[in-house]
Order: sequence, then C-alpha cells, then structure tokens
Amino acid sequence: MRYYVLDRGDQLSVDLAEQFHKLAAQRNFEMDAETPEIVISIGGDGTMLHAFHTFADHIPNIAFVGVHTGHLGFYSDWKSDELAELVDLMSTNLLSADNSARIVKYPLLELTIHKKSGTSSHIALNEFTLKGVYSTLVAQIDINDTTFEMFRGDGICVSTPSGSTAYNKSLGGAMVHPSIEAIQIAEIASINNRIYRTMGAPLLLPKHHHCDIYPSKDQRLLITIDHIAIPVDDLISISCKVAEHKISFARYRPYPFWNRVRSAFLR
Ligand code: NAD
Repeated sequence: MRYYVLDRGDQLSVDLAEQFHKLAAQRNFEMDAETPEIVISIGGDGTMLHAFHTFADHIPNIAFVGVHTGHLGFYSDWKSDELAELVDLMSTNLLSADNSARIVKYPLLELTIHKKSGTSSHIALNEFTLKGVYSTLVAQIDINDTTFEMFRGDGICVSTPSGSTAYNKSLGGAMVHPSIEAIQIAEIASINNRIYRTMGAPLLLPKHHHCDIYPSKDQRLLITIDHIAIPVDDLISISCKVAEHKISFARYRPYPFWNRVRSAFLR
C-alpha cells in the first residue's frame, strides 16, 4: 500500500501524522509523495481540500480518507483516537483485492478559465465563485451556448454536490446528494428591480450540460476555487461543467451523506 499523509499543521494533527507513519511502518505500508494509492488528510475539511488540490493531477488513481482533529467534518469521518483501528482496517481491506474497502465516488466541477493572457483548466471539490472586487459583477450567463440571463450582483457560486453543504448552503442553495451528477449555480446577492432581473433561484445542471460566464466589462475580479483565491484583471469567460473524473473516498465503515448533514447542522 502506497500512502501519503497531509496534516493541518497544528500540534495535534502533526502528532497524529507521526503516529500514523509508525503504525503504517509496522504494516509495511510504503510512504509515497508522488504516486500514492491512498491519501490521508488529518485536520478538517480545509485539509481535505488542500489534499485534493495537492493531488489534482492524479485524482483517478487515488482514494482519500479523512481524520478530523476538530469538529466532525464533511470529508473526514475518523476521529483522532481511532487511528489504530483505521490502519488495521486499511491493512485488511486492500483497495485492489476482492475484500476491498468500499470506494465512494463523488462528482467534481471542471472549469476552464479563458483570460486574454491564456487559458487554464481546474477542478474543484466544493465550488468555484466569481466575484467583483471593487464593483458589482456584471456578467452574461449562458447555459448550453444560449444566453440565459445578465447577472448583476456580488457574484456567482457554482458548486458540486458534496460542496452543496458548504458556501452554496449559505446562499440558499439546495443540498444535493453526491450520487447525483450535477453542478449547482447559486447567486451571491443579485440585484433585482424593474431594470435588472435574474432568475433569483439556484439552478441544477445535469452532466453534459455546461455553463459559460462572460463578464461584460473590464474589471478586477476574484475567482475562488475551493480555498484558493485567484485575482484576475483580464477575464474573457469561465466555462464549467461536471468533471469527467470523480474523487474516490475509501470507506472502511459507512458514513451516509444525510447522517453527516444531520450531525453537522441539526445537533
Ligand atoms: P474556512 O476555514 O473558512 O472553512 C469554512 C467552513 O466550511 C468550515 O467550517 C468547513 O468545515 C466548512 N466546509 C468546508 N467544506 C464543506 C463541505 N463540503 N460541506 C460543509 N461544510 C464544509 O475555509 P477553508 O477551510 O479554506 O474552506 C474553504 C471553503 O469554505 C470553501 O470551499 C467554501 O465552501 C467555504 N466558504 C463558505 C462561505 C460561506 O458559507 N459564507 C464563505 C467562504 C468560503
């Protein structure tokens, strides 16, 4: 088993990472920073986002496991005092064998950013947002190459199903079960009056549909992709759709999505 551990950097997470390495060595797991089969994130949801982006180019070949050192996370189901049990299960439930660990796959968001200075492609685990920095964002939104609306407001958030419980939820978006291959467009404080009009409701786009966002004037904008912020001055458009690849989580015990939603938000 080739593994890599990424921790949040606080003392508890660093200590747990050390403990994990010791337990892993006893089972002859091989630490591999380049091509791990399994990546263990120790910290919180932010640590998992960090782990995801560290290995963004290898997503189809990796399974992720999350250990939380704070409150229960959406991406981390193992508690700090359960590390020995986790390593035991990892050594008996191999990823490739018949008695394999259950792999749960969640859809991702793919975005292509076209700037006057070049084009880049990205994937997001939670969401991407586009916001005006000094002024209102004014942008045309096309769905499947047909103009849908002219947006005016603070910004636009496009999320994955597993990201629907994060920023999207704060914007009044729906929580979407990750078995549904879709992306969700939610408005951030749109301006609606007699002159300006937007749909004013979150939209769910299925796989194979796509959305293009064209800012209508030259302005300083901020793109966020999960925890990463990218300021842009020369944006032409952003294209987004459900990504071709999904993220895999190794589940050594059940962790149902709706149980997570209930534990995180209701009690
Ligand atoms: P952070 O430390 O500010 O974390 C934000 C919170 O979001 C944390 O409590 C984290 O546990 C939670 N979170 C992250 N992913 C989640 C998910 N899929 N479902 C439910 N909760 C989730 O910032 P960070 O650690 O850098 O994380 C970046 C994320 O913060 C972004 O992807 C975005 O979703 C979220 N965010 C939310 C808001 C908002 O709700 N108003 C604003 C900005 C960013």
